[in-house]
Amino acid sequence: MPRPIQAIIHKNALKNNLKIARQHTGNSQHLLTVVKANAYGHGIENVYDCFKNADGFALLDLSEAMRLRQLNYNGQILLLEGIFHATDLDLCAQYHLSFAIHSPHQIQWLKAHQSNATFEVFLKMNSGMNRLGFKPEDYATAWHTLSQLNCVSKLHHMMHFSDADGDRFGENGTNYQYEVFQNTINGLAGKQSVSNSAAMLRHHHIPSDFVRAGIALYGSSPDYPTHSAADWGLKPTMSLRSEIIAVQQIGANESIGYGSKFIAKQDMKVGIVACGYADGYQRVSPTGTPVLVNGQRTTLLGRVSMDMLAVDLTHSDANIGDEVVLWGQSKCGNILAIDEVAAASGTLGYELMCAITARVEVKVED
Ligand SMILES: *Cc1c(COP(=O)(O)O)cnc(C)c1O
Repeated sequence: MPRPIQAIIHKNALKNNLKIARQHTGNSQHLLTVVKANAYGHGIENVYDCFKNADGFALLDLSEAMRLRQLNYNGQILLLEGIFHATDLDLCAQYHLSFAIHSPHQIQWLKAHQSNATFEVFLKMNSGMNRLGFKPEDYATAWHTLSQLNCVSKLHHMMHFSDADGDRFGENGTNYQYEVFQNTINGLAGKQSVSNSAAMLRHHHIPSDFVRAGIALYGSSPDYPTHSAADWGLKPTMSLRSEIIAVQQIGANESIGYGSKFIAKQDMKVGIVACGYADGYQRVSPTGTPVLVNGQRTTLLGRVSMDMLAVDLTHSDANIGDEVVLWGQSKCGNILAIDEVAAASGTLGYELMCAITARVEVKVED
């Protein structure tokens, strides 16, 4: 038998979450499902059937774009960071990929490109996040340059919010950036790609022609704890499940695990779970991080090791072989929100789902 840890991908939840995303996007808006980082750790091939009827995919890696084409996908694929080298344009032409242009060097590559291919281009503005994109004062020049290139068949406007999930300097986190964006593209033709999950769910007034939805589709709330995934009607799409592989009875002043980080105050029953940081569970998750055993909430104890972690079974009749849910759904239906586990670990649902390692068996269920 293999080690009992598994990541279960729930197709019905993926479909449910896409439906929720649809409810937050208007009929005229294109909904691009973001499947970067191997579909946020879920596996592109595992989510493909559930998302293929959206209006397109968005991702970063050419290799992932090619995997979508290998699945016979014919629709739009957008490379969010654009091309990394001039020769990538040949592959964009061959595989019919749209891409962002965020820097002058990419425009130079396009100018120098020798073929009859034409490209759908998303010109990216740096409207305040200061990561990728042209500053507002350089934007119109870049737009005019691109609009005159024969190889550019469609030219759209693109930006990315830094604070769509909350506030920025005390004001609504989208207002400032969106205003900059609007003012800059004023008079320049083209559709707009603006919204991520947080903007899609929270800011319906933003007319994003191409919505780029990621995390919400994977059942994590982009603005937790303001809203939980359940508040948005989102369901967990990944469950990290394992089993109890040993039980220890310990007394007061005995410790558990490396560094003796947890010391019992009284007699305790401790379950050892086949899950560690080499599976992608965060080593920094502290004592108190929630866990489900047989669908019942309990907590992590002590330091997470490479292959194991400990949980409190003092008030549980759980035994060897019993189900442990690190996040997601128990077989009995009870849910441990990935956002709750992430918050206890000082991170986000994004990081937990992306961190699952290759040794964890992935199983796809309805
Ligand atoms: C990852 C990403 C998204 C999706 O963001 P979510 O918060 O997961 O919805 C959208 N746009 C860009 C440019 C991204 O890199």
